[in-house]
Amino acid sequence: MDNKKYNFGAGPCILPDNVLNSASDAVKDYNRTGLSILEISHRSSEFENVISECENLVRELLGVPDDYSILFLQGGASTQFSMVPMCLMQQHKQAVYLDTGYFSLKAIKEARLFGTVRIAASSKDSDYDYIPYDYHIPGDSAYFHCTSNNSIEGTEIFTFPETNVPMICDMSSDIFSREINVANFDLIYAGAQKNMGPAGLTLVIVKKALLKGIQNLIPSMSDYRIYDAHNSMFNTPPVFSIYVAMLNLRWLKEAGGVKQAEERNIAKANLLYDAIDNSDHFYGLADKTDRSRMNVTFKMYSREKETEFMNFAESKGIIGIRGFRSLGGFRASLYNAMDISGVEVLVQCMNDFVDNDLFENFKLKPI
Ligand SMILES: *Cc1c(COP(=O)(O)O)cnc(C)c1O
Repeated sequence: MDNKKYNFGAGPCILPDNVLNSASDAVKDYNRTGLSILEISHRSSEFENVISECENLVRELLGVPDDYSILFLQGGASTQFSMVPMCLMQQHKQAVYLDTGYFSLKAIKEARLFGTVRIAASSKDSDYDYIPYDYHIPGDSAYFHCTSNNSIEGTEIFTFPETNVPMICDMSSDIFSREINVANFDLIYAGAQKNMGPAGLTLVIVKKALLKGIQNLIPSMSDYRIYDAHNSMFNTPPVFSIYVAMLNLRWLKEAGGVKQAEERNIAKANLLYDAIDNSDHFYGLADKTDRSRMNVTFKMYSREKETEFMNFAESKGIIGIRGFRSLGGFRASLYNAMDISGVEVLVQCMNDFVDNDLFENFKLKPI
């Protein structure tokens, strides 16, 4: 693409060029079958190879233990907000949630349809700019639910609690961005469109023992056991999304896997946060200890200059940095496929903008 942009959008997110190229070839003719990937049967051996390679890549890249199932679903992470309580709030009609922002709240709202939700802790009192760490999880809860990366507020959980109830985590926006110990979780879910692939696919990694415990009557399409029993092909799966996710995971593996990606992500986040911290014009929104490596939220002391900065950045090919509507300011998302050179362009753009004489009346960092 010669009009290539630096895509800092929060999702659907940037994908590597070679993934887009292979995907577009497959749309025209999949592996010389004479058929488009959009046309091949999900029951064909071609697609069986795709879905099993995708599963194997998830297992290998995240080190998923054998006693976990990998499921491919649709409906986005938002569908998991209700599927989790529908399947798992059983004998204990109550579950514990950590309230760390917009998406946690959406999960809480859905869970309340199925039982009692207890809030372990909330950072609402401070506009969700930090992760609470001091809380208790009652042992009679069906499960504990948390959101590893708060894509809107720009905070991330770096230390997960010890629990004696099943731990469920929404990892939509930081899965594959850093090493995790899957064995610490009982169910992980993620909408694919942040770090895994295109929209239309949801990944669920679930401990088989948790599935065995499900006793409720559940509609088939909301029942993890059905997906597990049918290798995620109870009905037509999102063939193309799974294919592109597989290509993207192949790319990640070739680029050194999750450990290397984590190192690159730390370097990218440090570069941008240092620029913000050293600036007299920009400031970060999240507490330093909890700030996200995936979604960097920041504002300008001169709020009235923010639109001008956005336009300036856009003229340099930088797109997708507008902050979430309720927060304002900026959000730069640094998912795996964003190269550090893109972050350098953004930092340069921030410096150039404030160096410009026209803006000498900026409001500066308070002394
Ligand atoms: C984007 C996002 C969601 C919503 O995902 P959908 O796939 O659009 O439903 C949920 N949780 C987190 C943490 C997200 O970043």
